Amino acid sequence: MFNFSTKLKFLRAAITKKNPIYAQIAIESHCNLRCRMCGQANSNSNYNNSYRASSNLSLEQIDRIAFNLQKTGLPLIVLTGGEPFLRSDLDEIIKIFNKHKIATRIQTNATLITKDKVEKLLALGLTEYSVSLDTLDAKKQDYINGMEGSWEKAIRGIATLSEVLPTTTNFSLINTVVSNYNLLELPTISKFVTAIGFFHSLIPVHFEIKSQQQRENIFRSSSSSNLIISATDWEIIDDIYSQLLQMKKSGHHIHNSKIFLQQSKEFLKYGKPSNSSSTSSSKFTKNKFKNKCDSPNLYFHINSRGHMTPCLDLISDISVLDPQFISKYMSGEINKKLKQLTSNCSGCIYPCYAEISYFCHSFSAFIERGFGEIKYKRYKRKSLTFDQILDMSKKYSLSSSSSSSSSSSFESSKKHNNFGHQDV
Ligand code: SF4
Ligand code: SF4
Repeated sequence: MFNFSTKLKFLRAAITKKNPIYAQIAIESHCNLRCRMCGQANSNSNYNNSYRASSNLSLEQIDRIAFNLQKTGLPLIVLTGGEPFLRSDLDEIIKIFNKHKIATRIQTNATLITKDKVEKLLALGLTEYSVSLDTLDAKKQDYINGMEGSWEKAIRGIATLSEVLPTTTNFSLINTVVSNYNLLELPTISKFVTAIGFFHSLIPVHFEIKSQQQRENIFRSSSSSNLIISATDWEIIDDIYSQLLQMKKSGHHIHNSKIFLQQSKEFLKYGKPSNSSSTSSSKFTKNKFKNKCDSPNLYFHINSRGHMTPCLDLISDISVLDPQFISKYMSGEINKKLKQLTSNCSGCIYPCYAEISYFCHSFSAFIERGFGEIKYKRYKRKSLTFDQILDMSKKYSLSSSSSSSSSSSFESSKKHNNFGHQDV
C-alpha cells in the first residue's frame, strides 16, 4: 500500500490532470521468455549475450532519470522490461527510486523470482508485484511463453510472493492477457486468483495496427493470428465478460473497472476502443473518452534508452537524461511532442494507461477505485505454499472442465479448451 505522501500526489494528479500519476520504465531490454503475444524487439533474443548489459540503462542513468521524474511530481513507477529480474542490481534500482520518493512496483513473469530476492526487495519496502499468468493449464502456458516449465516456475514465483510478502497492506496483481487461447478459462482464473488472495487484471491482447508509423520495440503482437478471437465466437466474449462483471459484483478480486471490462469486449472484437457501447458507460466513453490518450499528462513510458514515449508501443527522441529535460517538460515542449505522437494512434486499452484515464475522467470509475482501495486496505490473505497453490490450481481447473459440460456453449468450449493442446 502507498504511503500518505504518494496518495497525496495521486490525488493532486487526478484533480489537476497536470502531473503524471504513473510511469513505466524498461530497466531491462531482454526477457527469458518468448511469449507469442509479445512484440518487444529483444524478448526473443539470447538474453545471455554481451549486448544485453550494454543495451540497458546504467544505475547512474537511472539515478538521473529518477531525479528528473521526481521534479514532475510522479508518485509511482513500474519497473518493467523485458524481465526486470534479469538485473542483478534490482535492489540498487529500488534504492534509487526510494531516494527520490517515487514508489515502485515490479512487473514480472515471476519465473526468476527467489525467496532471497523477494526478501531483499521487501527490506527496501517493495511489496507491489504484477505477475503474468495466462492460464491454469501448464502445457498451454508453456506453449504461449515459448518455454517448457515456465508455468510451474511462475507458480513457484507466485508462491514465494505469497509466503514472503506481508499478508496485509500489500497489493499483488496477476495479469492475464486475454486471447483465443484462454477466453473460456477467464472466470476460472479469476476464481483461482481470488482464492489465493491476489487480485486479477485482464488485458485484451493488442495487435499491431498496420497503418501506424514510427514503431520500434512495439509490445503489440504483429503476427500470431491464432490469438485473435474469430467473429463466430464473439457471443462467447459477451457471455464470458457478463460472467466476469457478475463475479466482480459478488466480490471476486477482479481489479479492472467496470468500464474497462465493458471496453474489453469491444476491443477483443474490433481491435480498438469502442464508441458504440450500449453499456451504462457509453455516454462517458462516447462523449468524453473516445480514443483519448492522456499521455503524457497522466502517464508515460521510458524505454531502455532513457527515452520518454507515450507508451511502450511508440518511440520518440525525448531523452529523460537530457540536462534540460525539466525545463522542457515544464514549458510544455515535451507534452506537445508526445501529443503529436498520440494523435496518430487509434487507441489502446492497456490497463496501466486506460484505467488511469477512466479514473481521472469518470466519476463512477473514481468512486469504484476509491472503494477498491478501502477493500484492499482491509484485506488479509493467507500465506500459501507452492504445493497448496498447485493443488488449488488443479482444483479450479477440474471444476471448470466439469461445469463447462453443462454450459450452453459446450461445443465452443470444447474447441477452445482443446486449442492449446492441439498446438502444443
Ligand atoms: S510478454 Fe513479458 S514475459 Fe513475455 S516475452 Fe514479453 S516481456 Fe517477456
Ligand atoms: S492510446 Fe496512448 S497509450 Fe495507448 S497505444 Fe496509443 S499512444 Fe499508447
